[in-house]
Amino acid sequence: MTDEMIRAENVHKSFGALEVLKGVDLVVRPGEVCTILGPSGSGKSTFLRCINHLEKINAGRIFVDGDLIGYRERGGKLHELRDSEVSAQRRSVGMVFQRFNLFPHMTVLANVMEAPCGVKKEDKAEVRERALALLDRVGLGAKRDNYPGQLSGGQQQRVAIARALAMRPKLMLFDEPTSALDPELVGEVLDVMKDLARDGMTMVVVTHEIGFAREVGDSLIFMDGGVVVEQGPPREVIGNPQQERTRAFLSKVL
Ligand code: ADP
Ligand code: MG
Repeated sequence: MTDEMIRAENVHKSFGALEVLKGVDLVVRPGEVCTILGPSGSGKSTFLRCINHLEKINAGRIFVDGDLIGYRERGGKLHELRDSEVSAQRRSVGMVFQRFNLFPHMTVLANVMEAPCGVKKEDKAEVRERALALLDRVGLGAKRDNYPGQLSGGQQQRVAIARALAMRPKLMLFDEPTSALDPELVGEVLDVMKDLARDGMTMVVVTHEIGFAREVGDSLIFMDGGVVVEQGPPREVIGNPQQERTRAFLSKVL
């Protein structure tokens, strides 16, 4: 393990003529919770997807735990990794989206077991034990034989978190994990994330939950227009923003 779980350097990403990321830098250390705030369209989701190589960046470099993502450097040049190598890198990064994307025809337990059994070909009995422990951890042990459609949104998102954890990731990326939930269900998902953070998981969390960012975050990044406008300890950035764009955004969400 290096002392940097994520290092992003000068990340650029365009879709055709639209430049979405215009040189983003970020360092997240092991065990840290980095929260990302910013208006819609500022490039937050795109940046998370780049960390996982779900989007190919046009310039810059991203390292996860010291590994250059998507490329191998040889003779001063970058060569794209093979699909199997990219998949191997991706397995160490868990991702949770706004929409839970559970398999509707599979039970809760089967959803959590799917990736380690299917993708990683791990021993089924071992994965089952791990999956049951994870379901207990997110408070859903009793729902293991239910189908996603029988669960509330908050419960489904907790299953999605357990499913990502089943791959034993080094790092978890959350993209607005509570934005699709009814307000009364937000707390139970944030509680699971707080528990993960306390347990030492490295996390990057895109969220509009200012309270969570302030309480749980070690750092806060404010993005706008494809750049990091401001960053620092959450209490400082939220309590005393230095940039006009940050102030304007916070005044709308606080
Ligand atoms: P945020 O998550 O901050 O709301 P996104 O990263 O989703 O922002 O989007 C940033 C910009 O990139 C938006 O203008 C969006 O329309 C555009 N964008 C995102 N994904 C694609 C894509 N696959 N193709 C074209 N444009 C995209
Ligand atoms: Mg987004």
